[in-house]
Amino acid sequence: MANIAIDSIKERTFDAIVIGSGISGGWAAKEFTEKGLKTLVLERGRNVEHIKDYPTTNKFPYEFEHRNEMPFKDKEANPIANRCYAYGEDSQHFFVKDNEHPYVQEKPFDWIRGYQVGGKSLLWARQTQRWSDFDFEGPARDGFSVDWPIRYKDIAPWYTYVERFSGIAGNKDGLAELPDGDFLPAFPLNAAENHFREVIKGKYPNRHVISARCAHLSKPNQIHFDQGRGQCQNRILCQRGCPFGGYFSSNASTLPWAQKTGKLTLRPLSVVHSIIYDSKKGKAVGVKVIDTTTKEEIDFYADVIFVNASAINTNLILLNSVSDRFPNGLGNDNGLLGKYMAFHNYSAAITAEFEGQLQYKTDGRNPASGGYIPRFRNVYKQETDFLRGYAAAFSARRKEWNDTNGVGEDLKKHLIKKELGPWKIGSHMMGETIPKENNQVKLDSSLKDSWGIPQLSISIDYDENDHKMRADYFEQMKDMFESAGFINIETRIVDRRPGNDIHEMGGVRMGKDSNTSLLNEWNQLHSCKNVFVTDGACMTSTGTQNPSLTYMALTARACDYAVAQLKKGNL
Ligand SMILES: Cc1cc2nc3c(=O)[nH]c(=O)nc-3n(C[C@H](O)[C@H](O)[C@H](O)COP(=O)(O)OP(=O)(O)OC[C@H]3O[C@@H](n4cnc5c(N)ncnc54)[C@H](O)[C@@H]3O)c2cc1C
Repeated sequence: MANIAIDSIKERTFDAIVIGSGISGGWAAKEFTEKGLKTLVLERGRNVEHIKDYPTTNKFPYEFEHRNEMPFKDKEANPIANRCYAYGEDSQHFFVKDNEHPYVQEKPFDWIRGYQVGGKSLLWARQTQRWSDFDFEGPARDGFSVDWPIRYKDIAPWYTYVERFSGIAGNKDGLAELPDGDFLPAFPLNAAENHFREVIKGKYPNRHVISARCAHLSKPNQIHFDQGRGQCQNRILCQRGCPFGGYFSSNASTLPWAQKTGKLTLRPLSVVHSIIYDSKKGKAVGVKVIDTTTKEEIDFYADVIFVNASAINTNLILLNSVSDRFPNGLGNDNGLLGKYMAFHNYSAAITAEFEGQLQYKTDGRNPASGGYIPRFRNVYKQETDFLRGYAAAFSARRKEWNDTNGVGEDLKKHLIKKELGPWKIGSHMMGETIPKENNQVKLDSSLKDSWGIPQLSISIDYDENDHKMRADYFEQMKDMFESAGFINIETRIVDRRPGNDIHEMGGVRMGKDSNTSLLNEWNQLHSCKNVFVTDGACMTSTGTQNPSLTYMALTARACDYAVAQLKKGNL
């Protein structure tokens, strides 16, 4: 007769557990299952099946009750989500509602979350750039934060690896500060963007305007068709979920790929409460989960655990994983868990008009959103009174519009006569922020969430460095805009709270020294070797690049290492 208890434990035992099914967790699932590991992916949110669960993907504007605007009531109930540019009637079902998942804001912080299978991979803007050595060397050079334990050469092959599978559109621009990748054809710049590029090339030898690189299948390869994905249709309705799989998401790409191996168990509606540490074995043995439907507590077991719950939730899970050995959170021997968090400074924008190139207009849609200006400040040497630098988004549009003044016959005349105005030019800053000890997250001592898990208390803010950087961005961009003949230039401080950039990073940083970091060069907890963190929590510094491509590459690299270590019996 079968021993029910043993059978049940057997059923709950896997080779690998991955916490979270978003961009990084999807990659861990793919890598582990491809390498033959029986893998459990635990996801706190509901299941979202590619295509089937994209209810708004083919809707016309008039099919939305409020034409895709959020009604006032929703804005009141969900101020944080509403401050995200991508939150609308068409995408709201992929966002966390503020009141359902409260947290404590010691300082104002917009924590934008997507709790479902696929996480925020359904919502992201798909901008993808590699880091360079200038980014990895930043902390060592100026002494803020600790030195990264890796350099560009360690991650370069893994960038190539994830780019090939995901599909990244871009040009080979040959820039040391923004290494080229394995690209599909880029989405071209329009006439005004090209004009700006040429002017900048002529006047500023170290500044470049390039086509933005993005995770879209501009011209799919066989590996993308094999995933069931097709060419991007330039609909730019991406945040609804793409029925063509035109952009990279876990749902369209890594998760179905992992599923095909027969090695994947995906368990949605499963909130990870904590990681279970066995002091006799000196390692983690599993994960405690709360089933959100039954509220039942269930333990799952595995040899290796990857924490991919997105930076802040990964901090929460580790802080909540307390044991006699780790009373302050798993791996937290040095008390630094949750500290040295950082984000991207998106608090500056500049707009202008351009009356040249009027023989051209914009037509069609560019899913890459136009151009990208890689960081040009403090790249080769410290040259300003602030540390690190900023990248900038850049785009130009020339839209047809109608004069809607007048009534009756007058109005009719206006409506049938389309006008083309000057080019509208726009840019916003994407600045590196410096990780600081007092920019931190911790468990609130009394407040709990619906599952009895302590709420997170967040204390993260801008500093003087960020303000100086913003002033420099205004000055430099104004100068560059004037050089290009742009007029009506207006600079604007954008009231974006930390977190609204949705590039929160750190808290479980990588480093060479276990006294000053939590993870080693393989994203492995220094003091609990079978637990790996490969989402934004692992980031020692933030660079200026959009971060998700780096999470993907670090994840694939760490999975490869973990499997090799498992085979050697080292985990
Ligand atoms: C509107 C928008 C635009 C963006 N644009 C870009 C961009 O252009 N480029 C870029 O690089 N990045 C962009 N990002 C950020 C990008 O989405 C994130 O960096 C990326 O999704 C992080 O991947 P992840 O795996 O760490 O987290 P996620 O993709 O968020 O996945 C984490 C998963 O873990 C689950 N989870 C959390 N806690 C638990 C728990 N306790 N138990 C079980 N499961 C849990 C969540 O439900 C989620 O599914 C954007 C994000 C948004 C919302």
